[in-house]
Amino acid sequence: MSKFWSPLTASLVPYVPGEQPKDKTYIKLNTNENPYPPSPKVIDAIKAAANADLRLYPDPTCEGLIQAAAAYYGLPAQQVFAGNGSDEILAFAFAAFFDPAKKLLFPDITYSFYKVYAKLYGLQTELIPLDEQFNVQVDRFHSDNGGVIIPNPNAPTAQLLPLDEIRALLENNPNQAVVIDEAYIDFGGESAVQLISEYPNLLVVQTLSKSRSLAGLRVGFAFGSEELIEGLNRIKNSFNSYTLDRLALAGAVASFEDEAYFRETTAKVIATRERVTEQVISLGFKATESKANFVFISHPSIAAKGIFQQLRDRGVLVRYFDQPRINEYLRVSIGTDEEMDALIAALREIA
Ligand code: PMP
Repeated sequence: MSKFWSPLTASLVPYVPGEQPKDKTYIKLNTNENPYPPSPKVIDAIKAAANADLRLYPDPTCEGLIQAAAAYYGLPAQQVFAGNGSDEILAFAFAAFFDPAKKLLFPDITYSFYKVYAKLYGLQTELIPLDEQFNVQVDRFHSDNGGVIIPNPNAPTAQLLPLDEIRALLENNPNQAVVIDEAYIDFGGESAVQLISEYPNLLVVQTLSKSRSLAGLRVGFAFGSEELIEGLNRIKNSFNSYTLDRLALAGAVASFEDEAYFRETTAKVIATRERVTEQVISLGFKATESKANFVFISHPSIAAKGIFQQLRDRGVLVRYFDQPRINEYLRVSIGTDEEMDALIAALREIA
């Protein structure tokens, strides 16, 4: 607490990200990064952009990048927004669309940043419980709300909501913005981007951090009706008109130019996830059905916190959530096959 803080600052409970140890000897399976490097074309493009033009401001409209992302999905550029990672876009969306006079709805057990943004923007919230199997209960998202946000797949449960349930949610909420956070969609889900032309209230948020191995570059996108994209641009231009820097713009454009690499690395992550799921189950764990680049696992007789600590002692970092309902689970990001072999070997010693 400081006397220089505003009442807002004093009231905040900021998000605590997963540990980023300086010590590189850890096998790092705690923040859902991609184990494979970005496409070599991305690195080349960033190197080429590291030139004298860095003295100039970047393009405030992110035109080249927005065109590349729009072409990728077959959308007009007016329906695409780019930002510094999807976290920034989510922050803009909370400010742009959610009504403080009513309650913002999101699942109880979800990406913990949503609570933080709601607090920052003075929004009331109502958390809609997951069912016994950790499924998002779409029919419980009633329409008397100030907005809806759901990650698909959900985090940290890794489970996917089928597109017809998202459609039902949109039908039921025609007067509020519905944000679908698709950070993990490329690992086995079907994107709701294809519903945008039917639903002007739908905003789909994506990121290059996970399936495109670019968490360090900080690039995300939103796709939606022109009115929603204009809303995001109003917030952005009232905050920081130069959101993406020149290096990020160059690297992100190049990432859309190497589809083969993207498909290959994504397929590898999915194949490893399926193998690891089978292996942990054979060790006595249960696992949710993951469509993400992580698995969510629990052992019936060994406390998750203890497993977390014992893995850490063996040099493997995973994520433990000290919160009701999920404190018997661990979230384990999918690494390379060698990294996951080391995880399985360590779990074999522990379980
Ligand atoms: N949404 C979800 C559900 C996430 O898990 C994450 C990653 N922590 C993000 C958004 C943010 O990703 P980024 O800002 O790197 O795009």
